Amino acid sequence: MKPTKTIEFKIEGMTCNGCATTISRLLERDGVLQKEVSYPEGRARLVIDPNRVTPESLAEVINQTGHYRVVDIREEEGETGVSTNGAFHLIVVGGGSAAFAAAIRAEELGATVTMINKGLPIGGTCVNVGCVPSKNLIRAAEAFHCANHPRFPGIEGRATLTSFKTVVEQKRQLVSSLRQQKYIDVLEWHPNIRFVEGYGKIVDSRTVDVEGQTITGDAILIATGARPNVPPIPGLDTVDYLTNETAFELESLPKSMVVIGGRYVALETAQMFSRFGVDVTILQRSDRVLPTEHVDVTEAITHYLEEEGIAIHTGVRIHQVEKSPDGVTITFEKQGARQTLTAEKILVATGRRPNTDGMGLETVGVKLTDNGAIQVDDTLQTTVPGIYAAGDVLGENMFVYTAAYEGKLAAENAITGAGKRRDYSALPWVIFTDPQVAGVGLDELQAREQGIDVDTATLPLSEVPRALAARDTRGFIKLIRDRQSDMLVGARIVAPEGSELLMEVAMAIKYNIPVESLKDMFHPYLTLSEGIKLAAITFTKDVHELSCCAT
Ligand SMILES: Cc1cc2nc3c(=O)[nH]c(=O)nc-3n(C[C@H](O)[C@H](O)[C@H](O)COP(=O)(O)OP(=O)(O)OC[C@H]3O[C@@H](n4cnc5c(N)ncnc54)[C@H](O)[C@@H]3O)c2cc1C
Repeated sequence: MKPTKTIEFKIEGMTCNGCATTISRLLERDGVLQKEVSYPEGRARLVIDPNRVTPESLAEVINQTGHYRVVDIREEEGETGVSTNGAFHLIVVGGGSAAFAAAIRAEELGATVTMINKGLPIGGTCVNVGCVPSKNLIRAAEAFHCANHPRFPGIEGRATLTSFKTVVEQKRQLVSSLRQQKYIDVLEWHPNIRFVEGYGKIVDSRTVDVEGQTITGDAILIATGARPNVPPIPGLDTVDYLTNETAFELESLPKSMVVIGGRYVALETAQMFSRFGVDVTILQRSDRVLPTEHVDVTEAITHYLEEEGIAIHTGVRIHQVEKSPDGVTITFEKQGARQTLTAEKILVATGRRPNTDGMGLETVGVKLTDNGAIQVDDTLQTTVPGIYAAGDVLGENMFVYTAAYEGKLAAENAITGAGKRRDYSALPWVIFTDPQVAGVGLDELQAREQGIDVDTATLPLSEVPRALAARDTRGFIKLIRDRQSDMLVGARIVAPEGSELLMEVAMAIKYNIPVESLKDMFHPYLTLSEGIKLAAITFTKDVHELSCCAT
């Protein structure tokens, strides 16, 4: 191990962040292993190899500028959390799932990490304003809905929502405890990960400015996530619209709500509020909700949401949003006809915009896509060597588990140079409506576009004994297979708890298990998973004509 020394300079004469950057550049000397220069604190902290450079010679470099003066030199021994052994130093900008996965992997590989986060609290989108609060409130709404709509004759339900504020309070407690356990406490277990609160701006391929503090490392990972995309609708900025960052914090329920958007956040949140008794209308620009999915999926979920009383308008062009005595009035056009709609609240759920602005990316040469996402190659390196990116900031596959996968992969590639390539084959995804919409791999249109000769087997839930026993036969299971090889290429499922079926198909795709073998596997009677076996049988037989468990 190299001998090292940690030193701190107190510096006079810095007047802005630019001064810190200038000093940081001056300190790019042989023997300087790490450096951070902070304008607000008027100091520089360095890790040096004392055999190659002395603190005095470095102070002299600063003093020679005539602008800045080192007035105190202190030597300290490694109490910062940044290693003093000259280890690889990864700077991670962002503090969400991608950042944490990257930082933990980096430490496992012997590196030190500085993680920089501001905007959302530590933990980022998933725990604070995304997966956790939404799924908790969706579950609460489901419990309320099911209690009021028992499906069995002879049972009547009369659940009362006594306090929505209490429901929101338990959500807050869950968010806060998971943020503590899964992020804040996790830092305690990883002494070589240092957390810095502040906005990170990229200065060059080894340097990040954090509100005046200059941090230097061996590589940078950008994991700054995404925020709600707010379309430029005239008047929208004059009303108090909700997004996923505020909707789950409402302490009282509005009477009515317009949801703009028709993809997963819009549909999940619309159904949640509707089930709590809010009169919900969805306005979607495309001619159908979930427009990237096959039409059978769209039609099924539209039907089930409308059946619960949600109004869905598609092919809509919104002209204007304005305040009105009852809340918000929206003027829109549908099939050439102008209409107005008034609701107490409006929720904007029109996609997510990568957090890339104001970070100096263009200046250092990190190229962005047309959507403002960071361009990376398959190893997750950006157009600047040594700068990597992971998670929602890539603008694609915006899931927490892909963010974590990418963060880990990027850290490995940055530190080891392994050049591992990302692989999204058999990527499962879920929309947590009820019934859920779930998918993995390709649908039939995508497969055919890729020149794969596919056929499909679609099994209505009414053929699945588990669904019959539950008296809930909403939805279907569709398997898509390569006709030549008998291998599955994808699945689409619309079913209550349908997401629980995905992983069997994902494993079959990933590990090349033919449909014939799936049919031969034991699937316990009456489980939902039997549906996969029955769907597999549907490729060659009509299960309607079979007795129970016969194949
Ligand atoms: C309503 C909703 C529900 C969702 N539900 C699910 C679900 O059920 N399952 C699922 O898999 N995924 C879900 N997602 C998606 C998932 O939350 C995200 O894919 C994931 O959290 C992205 O992680 P990330 O690390 O890339 O970014 P984030 O978690 O957003 O972290 C980025 C962090 O960087 C900070 N930051 C930004 N700019 C800077 C800067 N310049 N300097 C310092 N810090 C900065 C941000 O404030 C944030 O704290 C949901 C998302 C939403 C909005």
